[in-house]
Amino acid sequence: MDHLDEERAPIILQTLAQEWMEGTISSYFRSAFRSEFKPELTRTDRHENVIIDTFGILNDQEVVEVAFVDDEERERGPSADKIAAAVAKAFSCGQSTAYVLLIDKNIQRWTAYKLTEQRWAKRKAFRQLALQVFDEVDLLHESLTDEYAAGAHASPKTCQRCPFYEICEADRLGDPEPWDVTDIAVRRDSQLTQKLDARLDRWSKGNHGDYPRISPSHFSTTECDRAVAYNLLGTRKKGSPEAGLRRIFDMGHAYHEILQEALPLAWPDIEVEIPLQDSTLMFEGHADGFSKTEELVFEIKTISYRGFDKLTKPKPEHIKQALLYARMAKAKTILFIYINKQSGELKTFEVAVDSHGNNSIWGRMAARARSILTKVRLYGKLEKPDPDMLPERIVGKDSECKKCRYAWICRPGLIPTRGFHRR
Ligand code: SF4
Repeated sequence: MDHLDEERAPIILQTLAQEWMEGTISSYFRSAFRSEFKPELTRTDRHENVIIDTFGILNDQEVVEVAFVDDEERERGPSADKIAAAVAKAFSCGQSTAYVLLIDKNIQRWTAYKLTEQRWAKRKAFRQLALQVFDEVDLLHESLTDEYAAGAHASPKTCQRCPFYEICEADRLGDPEPWDVTDIAVRRDSQLTQKLDARLDRWSKGNHGDYPRISPSHFSTTECDRAVAYNLLGTRKKGSPEAGLRRIFDMGHAYHEILQEALPLAWPDIEVEIPLQDSTLMFEGHADGFSKTEELVFEIKTISYRGFDKLTKPKPEHIKQALLYARMAKAKTILFIYINKQSGELKTFEVAVDSHGNNSIWGRMAARARSILTKVRLYGKLEKPDPDMLPERIVGKDSECKKCRYAWICRPGLIPTRGFHRR
């Protein structure tokens, strides 16, 4: 990509996305726990050298920390570093219980771990570990003063945690040592995530958004004409994404918004989230971005690292969706930006709107939309609605029907797929 720094952009993107997502997770906590959750506590350590930022505290007694990790770490549990940091923060808040919520960067699955003291530690474990952390922090603080800057006075543990460890040329005091966390009990705890998931489920169920038009994102991803017809008829949707899917959507939105804030640096005339419609074919939606001078439509997609590694061109369903926006915006080019959710890396692809292949894709989509609209208009004129007049159901695609929010009327009795509520 010409306009974005290829080395720094992934790091900046990922950092911003995680900050953004932290804000979203904080809103989940505030909504689920209300006054029981106090977000963003700030303390200083005992010498007031260091500011300690804590994600939040529950019930005035449990410190919560959030970290975005890969799937292995989420399964394995928090690293010794994360345990030590959470314990130090809990101790600074006068507590001896902490939660570390690990969130998979790719699929937003989450697991909470509860940290307490082992019985044999006799209420000293948090204190001891926290004081070790503060000692290290003090040493690090001293090493940043002029007097110490020339030499390596930090302890091995400090060096290990220093972001410049790999490139530092100072003599160091032996090999790095991990924190000793044997006195800290680390247990998976589903209560916290269950309560958060219940809140997200309620949000999802309340979000129906029925509106009679053809949504490019729905049209390009469903093969079922009847589902598009139900949407045009304003049929009530039932079923909603469960909490896990909701998090995936929210993380996707976070990346979208961050990138949309960054894009004007490279394309000053860009308009983001521009509303577009085709009143003949009843398409209506919002393009992620549009540059009038370059006649360019932007399509932003987030993708897991597995999909990202294999990606050599835009996915067909994404081309269909973006073509609809591009046609409505009268753009000549589509710029696809794919974001690797694990690393923040970007891949971009430019696609000409007016190519032979894309013209025939557009032609097929326009014909399909016309056919659906004709049937829906006829159906709407019937005195007595006859479902047989609606477009055909898809056949042999139970996996799609199980996620369909019109299955309650079209195929009642079908068990929804995992990740979706029935109602
Ligand atoms: S349940 Fe299946 S056939 Fe019926 S509208 Fe949904 S996707 Fe189409």
